Amino acid sequence: MSFDTLGLSAELLRAVAEQGYSEPTPVQRQAIPVILQGRDILAGAQTGTGKTAGFTLPLLQRLNDATPGKGRRPVRALILTPTRELAAQVGESVGTYGRHLPLVSTVIFGGVKINPQIQQLRRGVDILVATPGRLLDHVSQKTLDLSSVEILVLDEADRMLDMGFIRDIRRILALLPQRRQNLLFSATYSNDIRQLADTLLDAPVLIEVARRNTPTELVSQVIHPVDRERKRELLSFMVGSQNWRQVLVFTRTKHGANRLSQQLEKDGICSAAIHGNKSQGARTRALQHFKRGEVRVLVATDIAARGLDIDQLPHVVNYELPNVAEDYVHRIGRTGRAGNEGQAVSLVCVDEGRLLGDIERLLKRDLPRVVIPGYEPDPSIRAEPIQRRSGAGAKARPRNGSGQQQGKRSGGSAGASAGSRLSKGGRPEAQKKRGNRRRAAGPG
Ligand code: AMP
Repeated sequence: MSFDTLGLSAELLRAVAEQGYSEPTPVQRQAIPVILQGRDILAGAQTGTGKTAGFTLPLLQRLNDATPGKGRRPVRALILTPTRELAAQVGESVGTYGRHLPLVSTVIFGGVKINPQIQQLRRGVDILVATPGRLLDHVSQKTLDLSSVEILVLDEADRMLDMGFIRDIRRILALLPQRRQNLLFSATYSNDIRQLADTLLDAPVLIEVARRNTPTELVSQVIHPVDRERKRELLSFMVGSQNWRQVLVFTRTKHGANRLSQQLEKDGICSAAIHGNKSQGARTRALQHFKRGEVRVLVATDIAARGLDIDQLPHVVNYELPNVAEDYVHRIGRTGRAGNEGQAVSLVCVDEGRLLGDIERLLKRDLPRVVIPGYEPDPSIRAEPIQRRSGAGAKARPRNGSGQQQGKRSGGSAGASAGSRLSKGGRPEAQKKRGNRRRAAGPG
């Protein structure tokens, strides 16, 4: 099937051809005709499926078909994204696909000066890509009017809810005209997403391009059991011995990302960290250097990495498993994108048995364990509670190190003992008692 059959205009087909796309991806095939008809959609599409073009192309066409009269252009399409990086990428896609159309788009997010954004909005914008916080800053400064929005896109809506944006989203919805087209994209379907969809969407067409909560089949996944204190050594060994040139590595905390990046540098591996405490400039630079191959290992936290589109990223490493199993799916979605094969490696220590169990339950299958010779886990090492946060919370950690940090999400994580290492649910009694006592003592 080719793009010509979807009902797109010649200008858009030209832009698509210039990108080198020969045929639409499944989400594009399903979403484009429906969006062109003006219907609402609820799309369960992960990043990497081509969803951005799936909503951008028909959105551009609809706006172009109904260009308003003379005068300043009002914002007619609003695309909300959870992170600055995703906003920037979606903005780039809008520019790329709309290059042969006389439509104006801009991107606004926090962490950068607001004045240039105000000036751009004053000049008139058809399509606005924004993160919720900065959007509301503009609204409160009366530098943005949303009363002419015809199409609303919520991109990676599940992540927006995870990041606590639901109140901001509701405030934004209240500023939009009642009559509009709504396009909701989410990689996973939680009850919160269903609730949001119920209030937001009008007789939506459901689009599902991958099985629910299932990562792309193109990603090979493996678990390397290893001791907590030897993960960094093993990572350096794997990067070096297998000559990995471009690796995205996930840590649970910002502090952990910084520390790992510094340690890798000491090992002679060019590395950078990307997380929410870094300035927008530093994040953008790190990402550029990584994309250009100047930085070999990019260490990221879940939120910072969300939505990164790095073409043909071959390796993703879970240096630490995420606290929430769905994040594993998001993380490994960075690789195996748009038809390329990818490899997702998880370095898992004795503390993470329960997190691994959660992931395998979500995936509905066991992941293969491969012990790397020379890095066999020491069976005498006991599981410890997992520290959830760096920064202020980490400082409050009791001296004996046994208190569990209270993260946003609940649920203990002290996993299997070394004896039942990473086996599902099998903790020896002594370990169970110890873990229970810790959980009872800690705030979590
Ligand atoms: P997305 O899921 O929107 O983040 O897109 C993932 C990647 O797929 C991006 O790098 C796009 O440039 C690429 N892409 C989008 N549509 C197609 C297509 N029809 N054929 C090949 N690649 C595509």
